[in-house]
Amino acid sequence: MRITRLSLINIVTVPPSVAAIMPRKGHWQDMEGRAPHDATSRPLEPSYDYIIVGNGPAGVGGVEGIRSLDTQGSVLVLSDERDLPYTRCLLPRFISGKASLKELTYRPSRFYERNDARLELGQRAVHLDTERRLLKLGDGREVAYGKLLLATGSSPVLRGPLGFANGVMSLRTLDDARAISAAAMKGGRALVLGGGLVGIAVAIALADRGMRVLLVVSSSQVLSQNADRRAADILTSHLRAKGVEVALATDALDLHEDVGGRAAILSDGRNVPVDIVVSAKGVRPNAGLAAGASIKVGKGIIVDDQLRTSAAHVYAAGDAAEARDYISSMHGTMTLWPIASEQGRVAGRNMAGAGEPYAGGIQICSVDFLGLVVASIGEARGASGPDTAQEGACGPPYRRVFMREGRAVGALEVLEGQGTRTSVPCTRIEARSARALLLGPELDIGMMEALLLMDVRK
Ligand SMILES: Cc1cc2nc3c(=O)[nH]c(=O)nc-3n(C[C@H](O)[C@H](O)[C@H](O)COP(=O)(O)OP(=O)(O)OC[C@H]3O[C@@H](n4cnc5c(N)ncnc54)[C@H](O)[C@@H]3O)c2cc1C
Repeated sequence: MRITRLSLINIVTVPPSVAAIMPRKGHWQDMEGRAPHDATSRPLEPSYDYIIVGNGPAGVGGVEGIRSLDTQGSVLVLSDERDLPYTRCLLPRFISGKASLKELTYRPSRFYERNDARLELGQRAVHLDTERRLLKLGDGREVAYGKLLLATGSSPVLRGPLGFANGVMSLRTLDDARAISAAAMKGGRALVLGGGLVGIAVAIALADRGMRVLLVVSSSQVLSQNADRRAADILTSHLRAKGVEVALATDALDLHEDVGGRAAILSDGRNVPVDIVVSAKGVRPNAGLAAGASIKVGKGIIVDDQLRTSAAHVYAAGDAAEARDYISSMHGTMTLWPIASEQGRVAGRNMAGAGEPYAGGIQICSVDFLGLVVASIGEARGASGPDTAQEGACGPPYRRVFMREGRAVGALEVLEGQGTRTSVPCTRIEARSARALLLGPELDIGMMEALLLMDVRK
């Protein structure tokens, strides 16, 4: 058995509280907290061999991918944010005061120096001309590129019929986290909209800050993208026991000024006073730059198996891209850190001439929600059926393997404890069948991934 994607396993470190898939451990060793850092005063060159738009994990991966093959070509990285690369996964812990800026920052400025890459912070790319291979910047300058990587990420979607655009916060950037943190007040009331990973993490962070938190979820379960109903129910009970109020199948209909201050009207008829409202109702790929240049865009920027867009010399990676799902082989957006990072590296190598296929990403989640770990991989949210093996009727540990046509396509585990379990060498997997393995005592997310890879390759 050849496991090509074991890097993902290492990414599941053991976060003490709320954080899912984190950057590899090694990233943290050269971490150096930085205050916001301005672009150098050195003038930009008129052209670069490589330009990367976006300095998240896909952009950083792009630099690493390029430099793994080309040590000479000139590289420019543009970011409209003013901070050095930081992990968004830790933003909720930043809000709760459990992670510092230093812990968030995973690439110091010397990373760019070492890689001889020019980093321009606070600089937005506003227009792309793929005919002339020119990128126009927010300050009016134009730079020419040899190869371009669009690693522009995604942005929160504000949904709902509300005047919620007013005074409703969302959590995507460090600046968002700073704003939420500044607004959080002990004893105050927070309304968090959205029961996905980010919504739950924000709810926990605000509860950690001493706020009374109501998590309002439109669907009938939390984690509807990552877990089945039973796992979600276990998590909901756990959150409630920890003091986070959860309203399922409920919408926030309006936000208005009441006599005593702001209040939200919920679809269950309640009128709840609120001091902070945070919306975490999903993200939308930042594909505007590509669309403006007539590059093919679906939900995200469409790429082929080498992460090339429909325009010559232009690549896309990370949350912004619609790339291959390893299990289904379908193309779609996969908004996960390790996937962005890996796509960035593959795109960077291909920009430097490697011509390598991108194997595809796997949906993976491993989160410690205040002592309850929910780990899932692949397609792990289906309804129960005869083709399903499961264990744990009403509480943790609960495990389930999702089978389709006799093959494992996903697995899920809920257990009590801190962090995630450590991986087991995959050589142990080979002798076991899918069901026996997934319901065996040593299951962890690394094994789930190895198993799925093995199963899919049959
Ligand atoms: C609160 C939170 C928690 C998360 N937790 C987890 C987790 O636990 N596990 C996990 O796997 N994933 C998690 N994620 C998702 C993960 O952070 C993303 O999948 C990942 O950051 C995507 O990387 P990216 O490089 O594609 O995009 P991003 O990290 O979004 O970076 C894109 C950058 O490009 C910039 N940009 C966009 N357009 C332009 C332009 N025109 N010019 C210049 N710059 C531009 C953006 O401002 C941004 O800085 C979390 C996300 C959030 C917000």
